[in-house]
Amino acid sequence: MDEALENKMILNAYRGVLRSIKSRRSKEETKIIRKAFNLAVNAHRDVRRKSGEPYIFHPLAVARICGDEIGLGTISIVCALLHDTVEDTPITLNDIDKIFGQKVKSIIDGLTKISGEFDFTSSSQAENFKKMFLTIPDDVRVILIKLADRLHNMRTLDSMKESKKLKIASETSYLYAPLAHRLGFFSIKTELEDLAFKFTYPNEYKAITNKLQKTKDVRERFIQKFANPIKKELDSQGFKYQLKARTKGIPSIYRKTQEKGVDFEEIFDVFAVRIILDSKDEKADCWKVYSIVTDFYIPNPERLRDWISYPKQNGYESLHTTVMSPTGKWVEVQIRTNRMDHVAEKGLAAHWKYKEKFENDTRLDKWISDVREIMENKSRNTTEFLDDFKNNLYSDEIYVFTPKGDLFNLPTKATALDFAFSVHSDVGAKCIGAKVNSKLVPLSQTLRSGDQIEILTSEKQIPKESWLEFVITSKAKYKIKQCLKEEHKEIAANGKEILKRKLNNLKINFSENNIKILLKHFSFNEHLEFYYQIANGNVNLGKIKEIGLKGGEFYLSSSITKSIKNSFENLIKKVKKGDEDILIGEGSDPNLDYKLAPCCNPLPGDAVFGFITINDGIKIHRNNCPNAKQLRSNYAYRILSAKWKSKKGNAFITGLEFTGIDIVGVVKELTTIISEEEEINMKSLNFDTNDGVFEGEIMLYVYDKSHLEKLIKKLRNINGIEKVVRIE
Ligand code: MN
Repeated sequence: MDEALENKMILNAYRGVLRSIKSRRSKEETKIIRKAFNLAVNAHRDVRRKSGEPYIFHPLAVARICGDEIGLGTISIVCALLHDTVEDTPITLNDIDKIFGQKVKSIIDGLTKISGEFDFTSSSQAENFKKMFLTIPDDVRVILIKLADRLHNMRTLDSMKESKKLKIASETSYLYAPLAHRLGFFSIKTELEDLAFKFTYPNEYKAITNKLQKTKDVRERFIQKFANPIKKELDSQGFKYQLKARTKGIPSIYRKTQEKGVDFEEIFDVFAVRIILDSKDEKADCWKVYSIVTDFYIPNPERLRDWISYPKQNGYESLHTTVMSPTGKWVEVQIRTNRMDHVAEKGLAAHWKYKEKFENDTRLDKWISDVREIMENKSRNTTEFLDDFKNNLYSDEIYVFTPKGDLFNLPTKATALDFAFSVHSDVGAKCIGAKVNSKLVPLSQTLRSGDQIEILTSEKQIPKESWLEFVITSKAKYKIKQCLKEEHKEIAANGKEILKRKLNNLKINFSENNIKILLKHFSFNEHLEFYYQIANGNVNLGKIKEIGLKGGEFYLSSSITKSIKNSFENLIKKVKKGDEDILIGEGSDPNLDYKLAPCCNPLPGDAVFGFITINDGIKIHRNNCPNAKQLRSNYAYRILSAKWKSKKGNAFITGLEFTGIDIVGVVKELTTIISEEEEINMKSLNFDTNDGVFEGEIMLYVYDKSHLEKLIKKLRNINGIEKVVRIE
């Protein structure tokens, strides 16, 4: 492209950035932004993105997202413009400090530390994410700018290499979308999830988009008919409002079809009806509208959600109800005001807009301080932490009270003990009992919204291992583990002594190498745990003699290196061993050996990738394996591309799970259909009935995925069958 034109486009983009914070900048501030822009343009002058456009478009776009979509102010815009300079250009933090001052410098420092998402040789991304959280208390803007950076990278992902796309997409749905959700950026979260899904499951994405398009007319007619009486009444009572139907996100529709094992056509709740009021008396008006809606349609009492009286932790306010339509389908209706809608779409950004100034919500403050407390423990296994953390990000909330009436938010399924820990870690650690609504209950009691809880404590109490089985919040889990560890350490010290004596008797050195081999032999990851279990008498030390020994040192024989396989893995392995089914790596050695991962049992035809394990060679996983995201995010450098080479030749074992009614008729038809399939052989069939409903499992030999899918379709058509899904 000609340079003059390019410069014009850059200037246009820059003006867009200025417009995005028009109402929030003074003349003085405009000058600072211009300074940052000039510096960034010069610094990135000779660099282009993979798409061919000048690099400066990226920081400009990130700055614009910060202004328009997150609602940040001048300092953040300046930092967004400069966010890649220190890492990619000769500009140093010192330079930034001199020109823009300490605040900008520290934010850019934070951004630089957590960059590196495209670096495949670096340590795990989980570590980077942890670093990002450690910067929160310094300045939450670091995270918000990072979110904007990620959003722009996702929007422009198309020009990246296939292997990178998948990693970035996995990381996005694994960490960044939940984060956006937690911070209340609903539209950013939806977009991130949508983009990530589109790249991870392109075919499924296309299929659902097409179906949504095809069923659009039917849906619109239905909604019109449903909304008409409501509209008439709202008009006659003089409400000013908008009524719209919103289709749910494609990833969430996909999840539903998977969970329920049904086709798209059967999922009717792909949309919700939303009524947005122009109102001053917000709460009263929302309830008036609720009353009108439920005059026409009967509400499901189980599904009333009052997030107006109890806003969610991320600031979300709305009144939700699910009502029965005349055609017998449940329809979700969301009632809210313009302000609530704004907050729901833009999250905290909207709060900031209303407050004009950069201020943190106290709820957010509490959450951040909890996260920080957990994060700061260096010994914690990062991946484990992130899993907990991510689960807490997404879960729904309940609202419970202390005896004095103070309100606490907890995730659903939280127990009395979780509550104790959320009041204070010492209250949790010393908890001996709980009263819910004045009644004594076990610590494992699941709480419900509205419960009032009194915690009973004793100075003599110490946390128990069994507590871990029922607490669900990361804070409680973490605190319990921390206390147990202290106790473990003392016991483990005894275990270590026992082991030392035993080795001494056998004339074996207590050397680091020997301990390593012992850990492997007894399948332990950690020294501490190993010693602890020895002290408890749970390790059969007689087995030490199985290991080869030379002059006081162990040596590895092949029988030790072979890991112990569970029976399911054995069942899954190929019936006939062929060595040309999967090609691993692009153009790499075709003779690489591999195993099929037992967690997802890939079939020929499934989209797959290879993962280099520590002890067990290369494992092949399905792209949609439940573990895939986690593996890609944390160990990208161990991922190999892989694809199936030949379609036929080997039979694989797979399983189907199904439920239904009328067992006699179904089993007969089921077995007939399977026996008529030439390419499929049944291995086993199990049933269990309960009050007229039955559940069953068939294990089959099949040749590829398309055969299996055809069979699933046929089975779903049997009268009396409710659900057929492949066992994951
Ligand atoms: Mn960037």
